[in-house]
Amino acid sequence: MTDKINVQLTVELAHQCVKCSACRSVCPTYSVVKEERSSPRGRLALAEAVVDGIMPLTEDIAKQWNECAMCRRCEWICPNEVEYKEIMFRARHEVKEKLGKKDFVKDAVYNGLAMMGNTITKTAMKFAPTLMNMYGKIFRKDVPEYNAVFLNTGIPKFTKLMPKPTAKPFALRGKISKPKKGSKGRLLFFTGCMIDAFYGKTGENVIKLMNEAGYEVIVPENIRCCGAPQLYGGEVELFEKLMKHNKEELSKYDFDAVVVACPTCGGALKEEYGYPVKDFAEILEEQGFFTFRGKGEKVYFHFPCHSYTAMKTDPDVYRTVLKNVDNAKYVEGENAMMCCGFAGYFSVANYEVATELQKNKINDIEKTEAEYVLSDCPGCVFNLADGMYKHGEYKKVKVQHLADYLAERLTDEPVENKEEKEKEQEEITSVY
Ligand code: SF4
Ligand code: SF4
Repeated sequence: MTDKINVQLTVELAHQCVKCSACRSVCPTYSVVKEERSSPRGRLALAEAVVDGIMPLTEDIAKQWNECAMCRRCEWICPNEVEYKEIMFRARHEVKEKLGKKDFVKDAVYNGLAMMGNTITKTAMKFAPTLMNMYGKIFRKDVPEYNAVFLNTGIPKFTKLMPKPTAKPFALRGKISKPKKGSKGRLLFFTGCMIDAFYGKTGENVIKLMNEAGYEVIVPENIRCCGAPQLYGGEVELFEKLMKHNKEELSKYDFDAVVVACPTCGGALKEEYGYPVKDFAEILEEQGFFTFRGKGEKVYFHFPCHSYTAMKTDPDVYRTVLKNVDNAKYVEGENAMMCCGFAGYFSVANYEVATELQKNKINDIEKTEAEYVLSDCPGCVFNLADGMYKHGEYKKVKVQHLADYLAERLTDEPVENKEEKEKEQEEITSVY
């Protein structure tokens, strides 16, 4: 696998779609906009028309492509194995090259992420927890458990319930953590930007769970953003730089597999970088490591799109892990697998569609009457907490990363009657 990404939107790629429309039923943007232009098939038809020279590349076409969340649910369901991601990032790259229109917010997001972990951001992030916590204490006493709300301008578009910045950003870097007894192998934990900046505790909990499962964990000192947001956005050169940097850094370590708690990072590390990658939940499930005791709670799990589309983690992994938490009930929402509407820059650029998706997700959660909402993606956790605050009864529901929920329920006592418990919950169903 070379570090050079092919950006050519070829005729072969553009002609892969046979227009059967099977993908429309799973596309989040189509579910809201309900027009062909917002469906995977519509976006692919435009790519085909541009490549064939039937239509010139215009701002209007670029807009249709940019309204895609890049969740890749269409690719996942497509019976013809259309390589949607390959087509769309190349199409977006072509927009950048040929139309060259500047989007300052998008550039700031992608470049800001690319800088995460360098000396400047590491220094700046040292002050972020104090500043943001001060802001929260003064202006947003109504949400003390989050404490910091970003840009409460009164304009809903710019109000976002933010997690507290982690007390010690990037503190996991360079850590080596060993299991109490022996070692089944060595995992390299690729933390990802949100864990480094906001969810440090989640990172600690992933390490704790992996140590308990018998693995040694190392966190590289000098990794940067995985580059997936930039690649999906068509910023291919930026992605290549990040991949080159990260590969050089990872080559300094010996490890058996990369472990992640963010499926967007995991997908890129698997598909583009070419590493063996496991989600921490997959490792728990493989080990049959079910010594978790709940507190009698009802639990909803939101399946992050990239977990099954990019990482290709079997959704049953999560079901199995959660069904086996003793003294807790896993309830699956009808739309538990539908996109929550975050998708990084998508939720900024397509605020109305993203908000509808967020509302639908909160509605699905509330129907189940769950007290805990879990996910295995820091971005989804962030968006679900914001969604509960804006559209739901957020004081009644705790939103957490799966790693935090499980680590808090670790128990030394063996959990009995595993099979019985799993059988008890067999009626759980969901649709795509
Ligand atoms: S992308 Fe796949 S599922 Fe969608 S219309 Fe084309 S061939 Fe059918
Ligand atoms: S990637 Fe997601 S949002 Fe984009 S067309 Fe496919 S299903 Fe729809």
